[in-house]
Amino acid sequence: MIMEKCPHCRARLKRQRTCPRCKTDSKLALDIETEAQTMAGQAVTSLASGDAATAAKYAEISNKLHNTLFSRMLLEFSVNWGQSQLLSYKD
Ligand SMILES: [Zn+2]
Repeated sequence: MIMEKCPHCRARLKRQRTCPRCKTDSKLALDIETEAQTMAGQAVTSLASGDAATAAKYAEISNKLHNTLFSRMLLEFSVNWGQSQLLSYKD
């Protein structure tokens, strides 16, 4: 996902690093967004290998870095799945 709006003034960005309106350098925000995506990817990989606890850990980091609908759903899914795994171990 490419950041489409300036994190400072919400001006539309056309893949520029610096906002044309307020001159905010969005590199730091973009770095955080990239890191959040990396963490989300780790969470998905952990889910795919059946490790809900690790997935929840990565999903939480991702969500803290960049709170999006996807990161919230990923975190919720990982936590819920982890809890259902714990319940199934008790049977
Ligand atoms: Zn701006």
